[in-house]
Amino acid sequence: MRILGIETSCDETGVAVYDTSRAGSAGLRAHAVYSQVALHAEYGGVVPELASRDHVRKLLPLVRQTLAGAGLGVGDLDGVAYTAGPGLVGALLVGAGVARSLAWALDVPAIGVHHMEGHLLAPLMEDPDPVHGSPEPPFVALLVSGGHTQLVAVEAIGRYRLLGETLDDAAGEAFDKTAKLMGLPYPGGPQLAALAETGAPGAYRFSRPMTDRPGLDFSFSGLKTQVMLAWRDSDQSDATRADIARGFEDAVVETLAIKCERALDAAGCGTLIVAGGVGANKRLRARLHEMAATRGGRVCFPRMELCTDNGAMIAYAGALRLQAGQHDDASVHVAPRWDMALLPAIAC
Ligand code: ATP
Ligand code: MG
Ligand code: FE
Repeated sequence: MRILGIETSCDETGVAVYDTSRAGSAGLRAHAVYSQVALHAEYGGVVPELASRDHVRKLLPLVRQTLAGAGLGVGDLDGVAYTAGPGLVGALLVGAGVARSLAWALDVPAIGVHHMEGHLLAPLMEDPDPVHGSPEPPFVALLVSGGHTQLVAVEAIGRYRLLGETLDDAAGEAFDKTAKLMGLPYPGGPQLAALAETGAPGAYRFSRPMTDRPGLDFSFSGLKTQVMLAWRDSDQSDATRADIARGFEDAVVETLAIKCERALDAAGCGTLIVAGGVGANKRLRARLHEMAATRGGRVCFPRMELCTDNGAMIAYAGALRLQAGQHDDASVHVAPRWDMALLPAIAC
């Protein structure tokens, strides 16, 4: 099956074609992402109405570009997958409207995909490890993005049990807000991470929130306040900014690593998969690889560009569900809030 994937949940327009007849990463025939970052920069955050309008402008050209890149025409598609939630309602409706119309015109099935299931399944699109093969459930997933920080027990593809989540800011949100309060331009998360590379480890030590008690929930907003106070009382030089960035990153990474290890113990699993924008963080990748190696387990990530929002993960998640015979009716329906535990299992 050749499935077109459409992602418009927030400020990235993503389109891809996934072909289930090809194994591993070769299944991804083409993918393209258009980021609206420049559009929202002057407001310091995503403006929902501007996001919707820009998806309207960019989506169809991106569909044409992606199909051309895959060497396919619309008539070659066997199905359409789109992000149906969670996300900004107006932005979601643009993708859903285009996807449903295209599917209706082509007389192929369409399916609304859960954005976080898309993130979660992204590592499974990569080529199998030569020694261990592809990760297979049961495993634990760490979803770390701009809006979510969750630990999920994956009992089967499509069967998800929430083990823990953030009680306030998501990890990516904490990166972005911390960057902003130290004067880095929007969106600051990746820039804060880059700055941390040049900072001295140990110059600033922040707490590892909620690691001193049992449980798998997170809290990152207090860390942001600790950084704010440290920055306010410092000389505010470039070197200090880098040192604080390093201290902040180490605190987030260490907190995530501690909770991941606990989650693996709780679920009795050896395999961890990590997805979402913060999964692109180099130090987090290195630290989790180290943790998995000490336990004799493994950790799997998507390639860097598939950590943040993209159409490939939506095409892939949709392809698995369409292949299993699932699809939606012809109405355009989106779900700005949507609990992943309510998804039906995918019978393979
Ligand atoms: P959600 O998926 O929860 O709806 P989102 O789609 O906005 O949120 P993603 O696109 O998955 O989130 O990820 C974006 C987030 O990832 C941002 O908060 C960004 O700061 C963060 N991020 C990206 N690269 C890095 C990095 N190298 N280090 C730390 N954080 C990063
Ligand atoms: Mg984004
Ligand atoms: Fe996302």
